[in-house]
Amino acid sequence: MSTFKALLVTQNDGKFAAGFQDLDRSTLPPGEVLVRVAYSSLNYKDGLAVTGRPGVIRKYPMVPGVDFAGVVEESSSPQFKPGDEVVVTGCGTSETLWGGYAQLARIDAELLVPLPKGMTLAQAMGVGTAGFTAMQAVMALEQHGLKPGGREVLVTGAAGGVGSVALAILAKLGYKAVGSTGRPELRDYLRGLGASEIIDRATLAAPSKRPLETERWAAAIDNVGGETMAGLLRSMAVGGSVASCGLAGGAAFNGTVFPFILRGVNILGIDSVRVPNNRRREIWARLMQDLPMSILDRVISMEPLSKIFELGEQIVAGKIRGRTVIDVNA
Ligand code: NDP
Repeated sequence: MSTFKALLVTQNDGKFAAGFQDLDRSTLPPGEVLVRVAYSSLNYKDGLAVTGRPGVIRKYPMVPGVDFAGVVEESSSPQFKPGDEVVVTGCGTSETLWGGYAQLARIDAELLVPLPKGMTLAQAMGVGTAGFTAMQAVMALEQHGLKPGGREVLVTGAAGGVGSVALAILAKLGYKAVGSTGRPELRDYLRGLGASEIIDRATLAAPSKRPLETERWAAAIDNVGGETMAGLLRSMAVGGSVASCGLAGGAAFNGTVFPFILRGVNILGIDSVRVPNNRRREIWARLMQDLPMSILDRVISMEPLSKIFELGEQIVAGKIRGRTVIDVNA
């Protein structure tokens, strides 16, 4: 097959356009490894990219889709050979490199990892950038002293992709993981992932005149930012750390330095894009070890690529639950 189906995003005179096209494989940008893509996924960033919102795509034309998983078809790198199953999570894909919303992708070996043994291609996309980020956040918190058996760990944006996987990992590791959500109707889902308690996200984000509140959280994985970050910082326990992953609720927040200088609280920045290959492999190995695949399966919904515009609007509106795997051949 010399042509392949792809979602192509263009911008002419500042005008955004996105549509499905049959492309010749000679149009693929250069790269060491040609991958026949089986699945991609839907991340918040994908929602922004396919709906024409700014901040993700930095080069046109672009095939969006931050993540992909598939089978190597050709390789000029000794690291991979035809038939190998491989995974890509956000590494500039959908920003400056063509991504996974296509039946074929070409990319350098440095950005690929082998599919972990015991995981299917669809499960790897159930993890995707969101799950990879959740694992990275847990590992960063561990490096800063977090251990099971202490105070609770807070996860904000709990019903979203990063949040759902973070709850499942923390519960498996034996933490008391509290999920903050704006969707109380998803209580049973969050409990099923292992959340010890569910709290209303409005409580955390409520304004306060007090610079510090009663100590509660040993650590937090924050996917929301904005006033949620300000609120949770006030209740961090002495020596606790916050892994700052996202901004689903806003980028800016008002706060004081008191949590840092009176309680020794740390903010750990999590960037899942600029991660060296050996570190990527370590994170995938931890995912295989600490994320039960049976729980991951409850987090995943499978959708066809043909529905991507609708799905993109839904994730930006905060209406997607857990992780959406995209079947690029449907
Ligand atoms: P999702 O859309 O799947 O989840 C985001 C969740 O945030 C929603 O499910 C909702 O949770 C909550 N939320 C949405 N809107 C608001 C709002 N206005 N106020 C408060 N809470 C809100 O996204 P992902 O999990 O994929 O990503 C989460 C964040 O992390 C995004 O900002 C994303 O850009 C960022 N991210 C960063 C990465 C990095 O490398 N640092 C990598 C991956 C993602 P609920 O319904 O439970 O309230």
